[in-house]
Amino acid sequence: MHSQQTEKEEDDEGPPPGWQPIPTHPPPPPPPPPRPSGWAQMVCGSCRRLLSYPRGAKHVKCSCCQTVNIVLEGDQVGQVKCGSCAVLLMYPYGASQVRCSSCRFVTEIGVC
Ligand SMILES: [Zn+2]
Ligand SMILES: [Zn+2]
Repeated sequence: MHSQQTEKEEDDEGPPPGWQPIPTHPPPPPPPPPRPSGWAQMVCGSCRRLLSYPRGAKHVKCSCCQTVNIVLEGDQVGQVKCGSCAVLLMYPYGASQVRCSSCRFVTEIGVC
């Protein structure tokens, strides 16, 4: 009688069967994207954590307190404390008033 013992390895001439698990090497983790040179930093207006953001961004969301900070172009940024909740606010020089991003209180910027 002819026995059908496919488990037994007799000859290894043919190509490996398709069902045989082929050891695969896990792909290496993708390298981090190269940071463009135009990165800037700002301080969160709420928790004062230093945030990094790509230049050109309009808003930066704080990863700590989730406050969305408005990015002001250039370095002409002043700081004033909110007249209501004393949160430190940033404003472009020349602005006469700034609205708090936390309590929306409008603080008049006086010349000190
Ligand atoms: Zn924050
Ligand atoms: Zn406020």
